Amino acid sequence: MNNTATEKVQCLIIGSGPAGYTAAIYAARANLKPVLYQGIQPGGQLTITTEVENYPGYPDGVQGPEMMVDFEKQAKRMGADIRFGLATKVDFSASPHKVWIDDEQLIEADTVIIATGASAKWLGLASEERLNGFGVSACAVCDGFFFRGKEVAIVGAGDTAAEEALYLSKLCTVVHMIIRRDEMRASKVMQERVFKTPNIKILWNTQTEEVLGENKTEAVRVKNTKTGETRVIPISGFFVAIGHEPNSAIFKGWLDMDEAGYLKTIPGTTKTNVEGVFAAGDVQDKTYRQAVTAAGSGCMAAIDAERWLGEKGVH
Ligand code: NDP
Repeated sequence: MNNTATEKVQCLIIGSGPAGYTAAIYAARANLKPVLYQGIQPGGQLTITTEVENYPGYPDGVQGPEMMVDFEKQAKRMGADIRFGLATKVDFSASPHKVWIDDEQLIEADTVIIATGASAKWLGLASEERLNGFGVSACAVCDGFFFRGKEVAIVGAGDTAAEEALYLSKLCTVVHMIIRRDEMRASKVMQERVFKTPNIKILWNTQTEEVLGENKTEAVRVKNTKTGETRVIPISGFFVAIGHEPNSAIFKGWLDMDEAGYLKTIPGTTKTNVEGVFAAGDVQDKTYRQAVTAAGSGCMAAIDAERWLGEKGVH
């Protein structure tokens, strides 16, 4: 640990997706002089996607990473102090709240806006962990390119899995889609696109038992849960697309959360159970999880923080 001096801020924003940057834009315009820490993935989940077609204001669509650069530029132009660094520990026992960055720098903040988002879930197999980065991936858009002209598998049956299977089908010879039930959760339109794609082969009622390979992914062993039959499918890439979990671990014990770890906010607001601490975006939203809803709640958080500071006479 080093002895970097404690810094005092009015408004600390943790996270750099649409929620964090929007909170920064509003907080900066309200003269709260916000400091935003970007976390390990500046720009958040949109930096690992391709085209965004449903964000209003971009009539021709926009690339996710490009959109996040625009958000960051706008927040900076308004005067937000955007920094690289990861919040690693908090103490919300008294005001001002304490947040440690990279385990060393201590920030004391009158208000904290948590916009830490969510991360991809994994199956939890030892082989999946061992081969992560060696053919195992949770992001087809990031890594699909490495498997051009090869056979791959993807686990999941939601919109993400459908979208990623379609993406991979354009690059790979065959995409084996491993689905644990006898139906898909994805929207009807996405399901139809998947069913119409000849090189996506669906394995219904199928569970992944093990990813096989020494130093790289070579095959996957799957089991049909209806028949009990086990199969080994030779593949070069294994993609996991089974949803996300909120990045809320460091707030455990301080903030109310549900059983899945989503932060609880007072309905219609971004207020958490701790005075002066607000939550926005996917870390508190398991229902909508869209860039535009995250941005909207980031705006709400900045307004809630500003009003809270006003009520306390700090601002
Ligand atoms: P979802 O939670 O919707 O789907 C997760 C999928 O993974 C489900 O099919 C689930 O199976 C499966 N799954 C979960 N755990 C396991 C496991 N251990 N083994 C095997 N399969 C498993 O997550 P998504 O990321 O797909 O989507 C999240 C949200 O984002 C949704 O609301 C979705 O509509 C939205 N979205 C919208 C898009 C768009 O509109 N273009 C694109 C991407 C996402 P089961 O069905 O059996 O539970």
